[in-house]
Amino acid sequence: MPTLRVALTGGIGSGKTQVSNRFAALGVPVLDADEIAHALTAPGQPALQSIRECFGPKYFLADGTLDRKRLRQRVFQDPKARQALEDLLHPQIRAAMLQQLDRVQYPYAVLVIPLLFETRQTDLADRILVVDVPESVQIERVQRRSGLSPAEIRRILAAQVPRSVRLAGAQDRIDNRGSLAALISQVDALHARYLALSQP
Ligand code: ATP
Repeated sequence: MPTLRVALTGGIGSGKTQVSNRFAALGVPVLDADEIAHALTAPGQPALQSIRECFGPKYFLADGTLDRKRLRQRVFQDPKARQALEDLLHPQIRAAMLQQLDRVQYPYAVLVIPLLFETRQTDLADRILVVDVPESVQIERVQRRSGLSPAEIRRILAAQVPRSVRLAGAQDRIDNRGSLAALISQVDALHARYLALSQP
């Protein structure tokens, strides 16, 4: 069990993956809520049965796997469905994270939780680290990466907590307006800080 648990969060396209990749390259254990969610909904996992009961068979492909795209569209358009899916998955994601944390043998761990504030999971961490960029940069980078239209990206942004809420709730911040090299040097500085903070 690590001494220090750092939750890493940020809006869509803010740079969470780049940041978590750097922590991982430094040898820090990185636990990722999205990866856990994906694993929990892989074929044969009990969460699939609960999703089928809650949403019906039309969200499954002919081979019995989850139609992730269709489910994503549904929960995006329907806040009640989104809440139902979160209620179903989040306790399981949380339990899996706690189990993984238990096995960590390192002074600190990074928990990547994109919807940390939206799903009220802030108590999982001792410190909150936010990757921060203005919305205009999020839109530009997500557009470049995925080809979504600015209107579609704005809809996703509107479904997430505002930037101000993340910044107000975080102890640490990475400013990712600059280059990737600038991001890496900020992660490296935080790494030294977290190692120091986790000294017994
Ligand atoms: P999502 O929430 O969609 O999973 P994310 O927060 O994990 O996104 P990244 O995937 O790390 O964000 O970054 C979003 C996009 O912006 C990627 O294509 C990434 O390569 C690019 N990017 C991130 N940081 C920078 C930077 N400092 N300079 C230029 N491009 C960047």
